[in-house]
Amino acid sequence: MEITEIRIKLTEDPRNKLKAYCSVTFDDCFVVRDLKIIDGVKGPFVAMPSRKLCDHCPRCKGKNHLRAGYCNDCGTKLPPDRAGRDPRGRARLHADLAHPIHSQYRIELHKAIVKAYAEEVERSKQEGYQPVSFDDLDEIEDFLDEAYLEELAKRDAERQAGARRPARPGEASAEAGA
Ligand SMILES: [Zn+2]
Repeated sequence: MEITEIRIKLTEDPRNKLKAYCSVTFDDCFVVRDLKIIDGVKGPFVAMPSRKLCDHCPRCKGKNHLRAGYCNDCGTKLPPDRAGRDPRGRARLHADLAHPIHSQYRIELHKAIVKAYAEEVERSKQEGYQPVSFDDLDEIEDFLDEAYLEELAKRDAERQAGARRPARPGEASAEAGA
């Protein structure tokens, strides 16, 4: 599948781990928004669009994020650590909404986005720079929190570490070089 357009919107605060939002158009006909470029251990990495996983309050059935300590609706104390675990034992608090299935395409997409990001950073240093317009991108900050960005950065670091040793059975080995 050909990547026909990548739009990058840089975040403004340089201290922010979240460096940019990104949208990618495939074959001139399908667009995926809300990818994120995050400052990782070894440079920027790309996070797929995702949503927070929720469950229901045992008392009022209100919907709460899995990390919430108290119900948003009735204030009942919720059990801590109630998220499911992934195969590596990490709490599953978010689910990707769109993502490559094969490592090879993940790497290709990653490279294209990181390149577009670097170009946008260069462009932003020029006088009269006009950021790309993204009509509704600002609202997605609601879905982000520091803890999630840290979780993603940790995962990225693990992937980097994993790339340096032989893959265990059932683990994608082609992540190397991602
Ligand atoms: Zn409740």
